Amino acid sequence: MNYFPVFFDLAGQKVLIVGGGEVALRKVSLLERTGALITVVAPQIVPELMERAAAGKLKLAIREFAPADLDGARLVIVATSHRAVNRWIANLSESRNVPVNVVDDREASRFIVPAIIDRDPVLVAVSTGGASPVLARRLRERLEALIPKRIGELASWLSALRGATRRKLRDSDERRRFFEAVVDGPAARRFVEGDSRGARRIAQQLLATTSTAPRAAGEVILVGAGPGDPELLTLKALRALQDADVILYDRLVSDGVLDLARRDALRICVGKSAGKSGSTQEEINALLIEHATQGRRVVRLKGGDPFVFGRGGEELQALAAAHISFSVVPGITAALGAAAYAGIPLTHRDHAHGVSLVTGHAPGDGQEPDWRGLAMPGITAVFYMGLVRVDHIVEMLLKHGAAAARPAAIIAQGTTPNQRVVIATLATIRVAASDAKLESPALLIVGDVVSLHSSLAWSDTGAAPGLSETA
Ligand code: SAH
Repeated sequence: MNYFPVFFDLAGQKVLIVGGGEVALRKVSLLERTGALITVVAPQIVPELMERAAAGKLKLAIREFAPADLDGARLVIVATSHRAVNRWIANLSESRNVPVNVVDDREASRFIVPAIIDRDPVLVAVSTGGASPVLARRLRERLEALIPKRIGELASWLSALRGATRRKLRDSDERRRFFEAVVDGPAARRFVEGDSRGARRIAQQLLATTSTAPRAAGEVILVGAGPGDPELLTLKALRALQDADVILYDRLVSDGVLDLARRDALRICVGKSAGKSGSTQEEINALLIEHATQGRRVVRLKGGDPFVFGRGGEELQALAAAHISFSVVPGITAALGAAAYAGIPLTHRDHAHGVSLVTGHAPGDGQEPDWRGLAMPGITAVFYMGLVRVDHIVEMLLKHGAAAARPAAIIAQGTTPNQRVVIATLATIRVAASDAKLESPALLIVGDVVSLHSSLAWSDTGAAPGLSETA
C-alpha cells in the first residue's frame, strides 16, 4: 500500500491553494463542500474565483506566493503552471510538515486526491495510487452505477435509528443483527426506492420482534474457498464470508479470500503447516460446536472443495451428533482449478473418457488405491498431496502397466499468481519436479490430456516459460 486512505475533517481549517486558474477552481469547488477556510494565492485569478471571493466563500491574495502563506495551513494544493515553482512550494510545505499535493506531480506530492462519489454522508473514494487517473475514473463510474442514488439519505436514516435501537436493544450483537436485517432486507430497499414511510414501518416491526425474540440458534456453514484465486469463490461463499461471526480456516485458504471476509469476524487459523501441527480434528470440532452453541454464525472455510480430501464429512458428522444446524457451500477443487488455469482438460474425446481424483497419501488403513485402474490408458489420474510421494506413485503406475512415455504434469500453487507448471513424462517427472524446486501445494496429473497443455495454456500463470518442458 503506497498510500494510506483517510477522510480528513477540514471544517474551519485553513487550506491554501496556490494558483488561480481552472485547476485551482476545480479544487476550490471540491473543498468548499467541506467547510474549509480556503485561501487562494496567485498573481492572476479566473473570474469565477473572483466572484466566490466577493461572495465571501474564500480569501484571495492577488500576488505571488510567499512562504508566510503556509502559516497555519492544514493542507496545501499547488497548481501553478510553473513546475519549478510548484516544487519549491512543495519543499517548503514538506519542511513545515504541511501535507501538500502538487497537481499532476505525484513525486512532489505528499498526498494525492482520489476520484470520489459524494452522496453525503456516504463518500466513496477510489485511487490507483496515481498509476492511472483514467482507470480510477472508470472504476468510479462503475461504482456509481452500483450504488443507489439515495444511499446518502439511507445512511442518515440509519444513523438516526441508532438512538432508538440503543434504548431498545441492549446487546451489541442484537443491534448488529437488527441493522443487518434493515440494510439487507425490504426496509432499506423501500427506503432507497423512495418509500421512507414504508421503510420506517418495517423497521419498527423488526425492532419490536428483535427485542423479544430469543437469540437465534447458531449454525455452521462449511464453505469451499477454492484453490487460491479469490475470484473463483462462489457468490454463496462470498455471502457466507461477509455474514460470518467466526471463521475457522485452513492454511490452504489464500489471503485474497480472507480479505473478502467481514472485517469484524473473529478469524481462527486451525491449519497445519509442514512440520508444525495445527489444531487436531477433535479441537476443530469442539471449536465449531462451541461457537455455534453460543448463537454465532460460524463459517468453516476450507481450501478447494470441503468434500474433496477436506475431512468436511467428518466435521459435519460431529455437528450432526451435537444437533448443530449446518449447510455446505461447494468450492472449486484444486484439480479443477489448477487444470483449467494450466490448460489441461481433464477429459477429452480423443484422450480421456474418465478422471480419478486420488490422494497421494495412503489412507489410515494403509490400503493402496486401484493402481491398475489408474494406470489404464484413457484415464486421467489427479493425485492430491502428491509432491512428497511422486516417487512411489510413478513406481506403482509403471509397475501396473502405464507407459513410461505417458505425459505427466505437476502444478504447484495452482490458480495463484505463483502458479508453476512442469510438464514431463512418467519417466522424467521426478527429476523435472525436483529440478524445478516447486513449492506446495501441488498436484500431479498423469494422462494423455497433459499433452494438450502445449497448445492450450492460456493464463499468464499457466505456463512458466523455460520450465514447461514438453517431453
Ligand atoms: N479440499 C481441497 C484439497 C485438500 S488436500 C480441494 O478440494 O482442493 C490438499 C492438497 O490439495 C494439496 O496437497 C495439493 O495436492 C492440493 N492443492 C490444494 N490447493 C492447491 C493449489 N492451489 N494448487 C495445486 N494443488 C493444490
